[in-house]
Amino acid sequence: MSEHVVIVGGGTGGTVLANDLADRLRGEIDDGDVRVTLINDDPDHVYKPVWLYVPFGQREPEDGRRRLETLVDDRIDLQIDRVTDIDTAEQRLECGNGAPIEYDHLVLATGSTLAPEEVPGLAEGGYNFYTESGSVALREELLSMTEGHLVLSVVGTPHMCPAAPLEFVFMADDWFRKRGLRSEIDITYTYPIQRVHGNPNIGSWAQPLMEERDINIETFFNAEEADPEAGTLTSMEGTELDYDLLVTIPPHRGIDLVSEAGLGDRGWVDVDKHTLEAEAAENVHAIGDTASTGVPNAGSVAHYQAGVVGQRIASEVRDRPATAIYDGKTLCFVETGMDEASFVEFDYENGPQPAPPSEKLHWAKLAYNESYWLTARGLL
Ligand SMILES: Cc1cc2nc3c(=O)[nH]c(=O)nc-3n(C[C@H](O)[C@H](O)[C@H](O)COP(=O)(O)OP(=O)(O)OC[C@H]3O[C@@H](n4cnc5c(N)ncnc54)[C@H](O)[C@@H]3O)c2cc1C
Repeated sequence: MSEHVVIVGGGTGGTVLANDLADRLRGEIDDGDVRVTLINDDPDHVYKPVWLYVPFGQREPEDGRRRLETLVDDRIDLQIDRVTDIDTAEQRLECGNGAPIEYDHLVLATGSTLAPEEVPGLAEGGYNFYTESGSVALREELLSMTEGHLVLSVVGTPHMCPAAPLEFVFMADDWFRKRGLRSEIDITYTYPIQRVHGNPNIGSWAQPLMEERDINIETFFNAEEADPEAGTLTSMEGTELDYDLLVTIPPHRGIDLVSEAGLGDRGWVDVDKHTLEAEAAENVHAIGDTASTGVPNAGSVAHYQAGVVGQRIASEVRDRPATAIYDGKTLCFVETGMDEASFVEFDYENGPQPAPPSEKLHWAKLAYNESYWLTARGLL
């Protein structure tokens, strides 16, 4: 009997992991001792960072989509299906179209979902660049905006790419300046806690940059309700903001199946932050956004975690102790305008020290976005 490794989710983490295992366990797979199945509910792999550039007319949503089958090694059994139930006691999954799938090792890489419905008025009153369709709709709004008040509100944390809301306001500021409209447009950024970012180092680096650029800041702002008719956003703390264009980072959740399987709250899997093993079940790992480790929900994190879990599963398959651990490594380029960026790298022990913004780092970010497709294939 071959051992069966099943990965649910063919986004950044799941795809990198599938290719990592295809390489690492090449011999065992070719000999029929191990099977690796990757299940994704979309035939396409979606690279979400592209959506930051769509509202500014720099990229199209299609630039962030590729057929998953072109990215995944032939040794992987790729199934386009939706997992509908996870039974960790029986080590079995139910899928939308097919027969139950039994696993020996399960990796959950099911990412984040948006939950704007958790705040009244948000779905109707706010735009966002956290979906393909949202980024396109926001592009139309930005293009037609010639005056008024743009409010960017970070509504819930954790959310994907903690840098992206900062990037958006820095880019919007520069984009309107370059088009000669900035003096007609106020920009306000709201954040739920007492600083502009969850990480204190990034917060104290970003705040002066925002002040220099006349970006208004509202901290301790936990959005309670948007009223699209009146054009207002109110916070639990009692602040009311008038807006002409509201851009939100909506609340995020994992997938319901995770909570239904008893693996964690709000769809996030409770894991050991070093081994990435699920706390509530045997033979289950989680990587990427769905793994609750306290590090940012970022593609770079999913990528590094995939490498760790690939090593751990290969060790387990070979009856060796699994010693690889995740050290919290996170890497991120942060756009600070339309043609300059900063860069941060940190882990559980060492906090981020944002690099001075430069054009070179902006080009490095764009170059990374292009080379991403090689990364997903496991070639970088
Ligand atoms: C606007 C924006 C900008 C970003 N910029 C950056 C950046 O610059 N740098 C960075 O590092 N990160 C960035 N990110 C974050 C990054 O995209 C995510 O953190 C990353 O995609 C997480 O990878 P993942 O594998 O955990 O999940 P995902 O890549 O989201 O993949 C999850 C996959 O699981 C599938 N799935 C879900 N449920 C099921 C099911 N029941 N059955 C089968 N399949 C299922 C989904 O369809 C999806 O394919 C950005 C995100 C956004 C929205």
